Amino acid sequence: MDEPKYKRVLLKISGEALAGEKHFGLDFQVLGQVADVIKECVNMGVQIGVVIGGGNFWRGVKNGEGHIERTRADHMGMLATAMNCMALADVLEQKGVDVRLQTALEIREVAEPYIRARAVRHLEKGRVVLFGCGVGCPFFSTDTAAVLRAAEINADVILLAKNIDGVYDCDPAKNADAVKFDAITYDEVLKRHLAVMDSTATSLSMDNHIPVLVFALKDPYNIVRVLRGEKIGTIVKE
Ligand code: UDP
Repeated sequence: MDEPKYKRVLLKISGEALAGEKHFGLDFQVLGQVADVIKECVNMGVQIGVVIGGGNFWRGVKNGEGHIERTRADHMGMLATAMNCMALADVLEQKGVDVRLQTALEIREVAEPYIRARAVRHLEKGRVVLFGCGVGCPFFSTDTAAVLRAAEINADVILLAKNIDGVYDCDPAKNADAVKFDAITYDEVLKRHLAVMDSTATSLSMDNHIPVLVFALKDPYNIVRVLRGEKIGTIVKE
């Protein structure tokens, strides 16, 4: 088999993607497909860290506004990401994949605390590492957590699996003439306020020179295609 294009990747899956058509909670068909693909990537010899969002359960600002103080609402969001990680960990283990869950907020009975050196050691041993609770701080997003963890583990690329198949010049749901980019610079994303990631995450990836590949999770096999070097989605880079 051809050498995979990337040796160590950080996969970011939004919480919403895990909810599938239900748009809330977990769709176990989606989880099963994602786990199958992750297993295939591991078998290709790729080291995989995963950051999962929490939007399928709770988004701090959106769900808490006017009801729950922002910091507490964000802590709830971080716990939602941990639940998603636990679900994916279990489905992966059922498929015989070695997994470790590390969380940025300590929940010792449930997961290891995040320790960079341990995470890297797990990856080197071929274990999938799931990073829960974002960066562990309110006012941040799991996109920023994905970039931060990618920088810390020296990932070759961030695979940003979304509900949309790349970066467009405007919202394709609202504009039939929307044009998809094959490649775009971080600068351009920031200047045009394109909704790829939030600006904190985009600046962090720019400052640390980490390419971000945006593609659709609708067909989870896209992850394998990307690792085989097929041109899919949009690459955000310098
Ligand atoms: N969150 C946070 N700090 C982080 C990551 C997440 O406070 O480092 C909270 C925040 O409230 C956010 C929620 O967790 O709305 C879920 O994360 P996110 O919105 O990034 O999930 P996604 O949109 O990817 O499903």
